[in-house]
Amino acid sequence: MFEEEYDVIVVGGGHAGAEAAAAAANLGSKTLLVTMNLQNIGQMSCNPAMGGIAKGQIVREIDALGGYSGIVSDKSAIQFKMLNKSKGPAMWSPRTQNDRMRFAEEWRLMLERTENVDFYQEMVSGLLIENNKVVGVKTSLGINIKSKSVVLTNGTFLNGLIHIGEKQFGGGRAGERAATGITEQLVELGFESGRMKTGTPPRVDGRSLDYSKMIVQPGDVIPEKFSYTKTKPLTHQRDCYMTHTSAMVHDLLREGFDRSPMFNGRIKSLGPRYCPSIEDKINRFADKDSHQMFIEPEGWETVEVYVNGFSTSLPEDVQFKALRSVVGFENVKFFRPGYAIEYDYFPPTQLKHTLETKLVENLYFAGQINGTTGYEEAASQGLMAGINAHLKLQEKDALILKRDEAYIGVLIDDLITKGTEEPYRMFTSRAEYRTLLRQDNADLRLTPLSHSIGLATDTRMKRMEEKLEQSEALVNFFRETSVLPKDINPIFESVDSSLVKQSDKMYKAFSRPNVTMDHMLQLEDVSNFVKENNFDSEILEQAEVQIKYSGYIAKEKVNADKLHRLEAVKIPVNFDYSKLKSLSFEAREKMTKIQPVTISQASRISGVTPSDISVLLVYLGR
Ligand SMILES: Cc1cc2nc3c(=O)[nH]c(=O)nc-3n(C[C@H](O)[C@H](O)[C@H](O)COP(=O)(O)OP(=O)(O)OC[C@H]3O[C@@H](n4cnc5c(N)ncnc54)[C@H](O)[C@@H]3O)c2cc1C
Repeated sequence: MFEEEYDVIVVGGGHAGAEAAAAAANLGSKTLLVTMNLQNIGQMSCNPAMGGIAKGQIVREIDALGGYSGIVSDKSAIQFKMLNKSKGPAMWSPRTQNDRMRFAEEWRLMLERTENVDFYQEMVSGLLIENNKVVGVKTSLGINIKSKSVVLTNGTFLNGLIHIGEKQFGGGRAGERAATGITEQLVELGFESGRMKTGTPPRVDGRSLDYSKMIVQPGDVIPEKFSYTKTKPLTHQRDCYMTHTSAMVHDLLREGFDRSPMFNGRIKSLGPRYCPSIEDKINRFADKDSHQMFIEPEGWETVEVYVNGFSTSLPEDVQFKALRSVVGFENVKFFRPGYAIEYDYFPPTQLKHTLETKLVENLYFAGQINGTTGYEEAASQGLMAGINAHLKLQEKDALILKRDEAYIGVLIDDLITKGTEEPYRMFTSRAEYRTLLRQDNADLRLTPLSHSIGLATDTRMKRMEEKLEQSEALVNFFRETSVLPKDINPIFESVDSSLVKQSDKMYKAFSRPNVTMDHMLQLEDVSNFVKENNFDSEILEQAEVQIKYSGYIAKEKVNADKLHRLEAVKIPVNFDYSKLKSLSFEAREKMTKIQPVTISQASRISGVTPSDISVLLVYLGR
């Protein structure tokens, strides 16, 4: 039924698995994607949206590296917003509302069109392991399939347990069964596992809502897109809406608290701190008698609607009664109740930077199985695991993104160095170098790296080079061209900036606060140069960011260089920390467990102090 031996078997066709399969196959590995339901590839388990703060940057990074999530999101988008546009460019975060069914369909089609990917629908119940090396998988039908490496991306499915009020039943997601066998085998092999929890709101019938009582939330007037390839931006969009809970809604929900698995001890594991359930919000913020709710369409045509902000595992009758008291929901009809799910994960400190496990060679973990939450976090790990599984088989150097190169680098370094005890989601605040890690320059940062390993195509690379060349030409134009007081002073006057008496370089004028590219385009020389060279909005934006934020960018580069110096100080493999008695006990214990590769990584382990680092530096002769 199968190839004699695959290069890579990817277990699970969620966001992580789909990206892992695409990356390994596009690099040339013979890849098999085994998943429990081939209809649900790239399924959005929770809200029908991609991106958002810090997550949008990750989608752009995935795209710049040659992954598919950005393209799939663009093709299935129904609304686009650039969040945080009023803040600096480091904070700009693209987000799409997506057609849930089309998103999954696009993923499936993209993978079907990818050479080297075979598909098989079944549950993987165990791994084939010989001499601490994975050599394939076994399925629940008892079939053994051989491979040189395996990427596990089981998401919320491992021993998944769904809770709705007092009812609980096995499941990996509503309507899908849980996966069994893998956790038990891995624990027997010496892996540590834990339990986490997440939840989702009810879905309702949009025809039963009164939108006239809600506040409309349209998309951007000029929608952008995720992918650096030639996907099309939206020409029309669907609106979302906003409404609020009230004291009455909270009272109705409180009536069910004694039957809530969150409060009666049935759910023991930790959920995502920044995505709390409505009962959690009412409990934690008892003084607030209103919370925002966003009403998001699930697609272009479907009437199903996602009730963002109302995630709950309260009994379905309590959910329904409370929802009917929300303004605009007086006649609401349910499609599906909200629920919570508990599942197994594996603390990610058991992984190397490549996402290969330390215990079993050629076995990789990616996605929610590593304690993360979110499609974007999962997809990016899948991409990196797929890339590194392929590179290792080819005996090539691993691709490890640094903390100043990508949010993906921050994510993986945080996971494997610090671990996580609650679902980890990305925030801009987790990145030390966020001025460098912007959504506008992900291609400039990452496409050359990906092209060098053969993943990003020549077309992508060429587009990136053109963008770099054109934006540099425009910055140089501002640097070299002077502007007369009579031309620039009206602009300065319009932004309350002091006037000048002598001509000066345009770059200097542009650097002033509140002077924007739109102002500069009012100058004839500038608009002529832009027209002559056919520069599009992407080039204008890139040049503007490079000029306006040059000081911040330069400062962060200096700090990043300092980090690189510490990254260069390598710690020998299997270093015996117990012999360094001047290290604190905690540092010895944690470094022995995590086995940091460099001094820089050691310094990021929680509990390792600057004096521990000094001891190590002295020992290593630095
Ligand atoms: C109820 C719920 C609520 C959520 N709420 C949020 C939220 O509010 N915010 C947020 O950011 N994220 C949320 N998430 C998480 C988000 O869905 C995940 O982070 C993301 O889908 C993880 O991607 P993944 O690829 O790791 O796993 P998944 O998307 O879960 O995909 C796992 C895939 O693996 C397959 N699989 C599993 N085990 C096996 C096996 N043994 N053999 C074969 N195939 C297997 C499954 O069929 C599935 O296709 C929620 C998830 C759920 C279920």
